[in-house]
Amino acid sequence: MNMLLLASYDIVFQEVPGEVTLALNLSACPNRCPGCHSVHLREATGEPLDDELLTGLLARYGTSVTCVAFMGGDGEPAEVNRLAALVKTSELKTAWYSGRAQIPPTVDLSNLDFVKLGPYDPNRGGLDSLTTNQKFYKVEQGQLIDKTDLFHKKPII
Ligand code: SF4
Repeated sequence: MNMLLLASYDIVFQEVPGEVTLALNLSACPNRCPGCHSVHLREATGEPLDDELLTGLLARYGTSVTCVAFMGGDGEPAEVNRLAALVKTSELKTAWYSGRAQIPPTVDLSNLDFVKLGPYDPNRGGLDSLTTNQKFYKVEQGQLIDKTDLFHKKPII
């Protein structure tokens, strides 16, 4: 049975600009980025993220956040898609942080409001690096709109 594994979760503020996000940290990452920043997420640890667990988290945290982000899950993108659709039945927005270079065909962009794509390259850095290879997109009418520069804006003092 296809299943995502939830290693941990946090409420975060920077992963999705402008949103307060419940970040679901998914393990069993199939990617092998050189210099991986989250080696522990390559192991199959945590508990199965089934509908019951997800709806329980939404009931508990749904009024405290504006967005739910699936952090990883590249081994089971169809499950990310299915559970993102479940979140979209609420008022909450959805995001997917993927290490893939492209959206797989099993993921319907209408279930997502934000997508991060691209493997981690330690020589180029993550989204907050000016030299990053990664991209952060907003989904608008089924199109990916590049918003990576939101991570590079200097704070106004
Ligand atoms: S996507 Fe890459 S950096 Fe992230 S956990 Fe997987 S191997 Fe590590």
